[in-house]
Amino acid sequence: MCKKEFWQNKRVLVTGASGFVGQNLLPLLRATGCQLCAPSHTECDLLEQQQVRILIKEAAPDIVFHLAGLSGGIMANKQYPADFCYQNLLMNTLMMHEAYLGGVEKYITLIGGCSYPASAPSPIVEEALWNGYPQPESAPYSLAKKMNVTMAEAYRTQHGFDAIVLVPGNMYGPFDNFDLQNAHVIPALLRKIYEAQVNGAEEVTVWGTGKPVRDFVYVGDVCEAIVIAAETYSAPDIINISTGKQVTIRELVERIVAITDYKGQIQWDKTKPDGQMHKGFDVTRLHQWLGFHSRTSLSIGLQKTLAWFVENYETARLDVPVQPNRSKSAS
Ligand code: GDP
Repeated sequence: MCKKEFWQNKRVLVTGASGFVGQNLLPLLRATGCQLCAPSHTECDLLEQQQVRILIKEAAPDIVFHLAGLSGGIMANKQYPADFCYQNLLMNTLMMHEAYLGGVEKYITLIGGCSYPASAPSPIVEEALWNGYPQPESAPYSLAKKMNVTMAEAYRTQHGFDAIVLVPGNMYGPFDNFDLQNAHVIPALLRKIYEAQVNGAEEVTVWGTGKPVRDFVYVGDVCEAIVIAAETYSAPDIINISTGKQVTIRELVERIVAITDYKGQIQWDKTKPDGQMHKGFDVTRLHQWLGFHSRTSLSIGLQKTLAWFVENYETARLDVPVQPNRSKSAS
């Protein structure tokens, strides 16, 4: 799948390697035959310029995948807005600047769909990025991430630095955060319904009305697209990575109930927020510019994620603290 000759003798640095995307990207990168450097967050504090400089000097990467960041659920975002703003802005600034100074050939980073304006019509086109303010609750996080786009363009213009920024849709898959307090809907519901089935619980509570629509993309597909972008894409324009297919939360719940064989009741807790009603992503650029189509259907992706979760229940991230560390954590 990957272009082996592109990766031969390439030195590759991945930050945030222990996070959700990092854990899924590493096997693909290993398979390319590149020389991989994936330090843990205890080995290098990306909030310290000197440590970032030493990391770049010692790893001497040709390619950097900058995936580290402080991320969390809505509760954490509301409680620690300054940490989310400060840490992401600082880390991204230091990483891109030091990568440029260190002569890195290609720099790839990600921002979330939450960086788009809260009012962006669905399916969201990339051109909508600057048309309004994002959801206020997570704006300190999402605007800090969004500065990557401005920075990448600035470094490309002034220094010819090849930095690209990609925007995954609502990702799910192995190594996700399964903490019920701050997980996204797929890991939260896989866990709730699986545990209810195992424990013989009579009902499971699901948030909202079930009417919101989302575009869920399997993390393995996102990682394949990231590798293709690293090989072939060099431009300041962002690219959505998603499926372009939309499903309601109600339909999602039905599918999870089917694959877990859960026989109990589903209770809809309408006091919990629905969030944005329609959130899909336009994937024209993904198809036309990267020549990539997400391959994993929602049914297959849910089955793979459930199988991974059941097999790795003891080590899965079931309890992710809301209190952010001063040092970085992985996105
Ligand atoms: P976002 O709304 O796109 O930021 O992503 P989420 O994954 O947090 O939520 C998507 C939708 O799933 C929202 O409409 C939620 O109300 C709904 N939902 C239903 N049950 C749950 C749950 O247990 N956890 C979460 N996070 N969302 C849920």
